[in-house]
Amino acid sequence: MIDHIFNKINYYLKKKYDTKKILLNTVLPNVFLVFAFFYHFAFYSFQQKRDHYKIYSETPIDSLRLNKIIDLVDEKFNQNNIKLDTDISLFFSATSNNYFASNFFRGKHTGGMSYNNLNRIIICPSDFENNKITRSIDPYNHRKLSDILVHELTHQHLVKKIGLLKSYFIEKWKNEGYCEYIANSSTIDIELAKEIFLNYNEKQKETFYKKKDFTCIVYDYFKYRIRVDYLLTYKKIDFDTFIKSKYNIMDLEKEIKASLISGEYIFNQQ
Ligand SMILES: [Zn+2]
Repeated sequence: MIDHIFNKINYYLKKKYDTKKILLNTVLPNVFLVFAFFYHFAFYSFQQKRDHYKIYSETPIDSLRLNKIIDLVDEKFNQNNIKLDTDISLFFSATSNNYFASNFFRGKHTGGMSYNNLNRIIICPSDFENNKITRSIDPYNHRKLSDILVHELTHQHLVKKIGLLKSYFIEKWKNEGYCEYIANSSTIDIELAKEIFLNYNEKQKETFYKKKDFTCIVYDYFKYRIRVDYLLTYKKIDFDTFIKSKYNIMDLEKEIKASLISGEYIFNQQ
């Protein structure tokens, strides 16, 4: 049926072009890009600006409270000698459903989603007064809003540093671990994470991962973070070497464990 329609169109265009190919390869991807570009603006009608941040929200945000959060974000980047100067749009959702819809129905329980090619970040519903995100997944909604912002902004910074193409192929642990490392915090309770990391045997770890719940994901993020923290803070490896090097994860984790147990490497407790 569809082919019949394409054939008809081709007939009227005197078979000059292959309409199906043009539609599928050129028109549709561009229509989708334009759609994605305007999609977010449909939801977030309140706007304000702070330095290089364009801020969009579904409900008005008190600018004093917002500025306090941005100050904390800037402070963390200053501590890490990172200068963010590209214009970035931050979209603050008011409800979980809208957050989910804004992310094209993905990542319902995430705190933020970064759209690196659009210089955009979408943030889950948050409590600005108490600097907390309020995503609908207990007990993991205590994470600081400023840290979620730092994490997502670090994704954008990473892309700028290594390039968009390379950023698609970077190993997940390096990408997410570096963002958690700069945010300097984790979603999982650190004591629980350390207990799993240091004391669980293979059988216990297998049982833990079988649950396939959110705790497994946040534990993974802790694992990624401790690997990066160990390499960059303790081993003092520079950023470029860290990105370029291939690491044997089993050996690296063994090394981290031994250094933690001997007390040579102290992991920041946040
Ligand atoms: Zn991330």
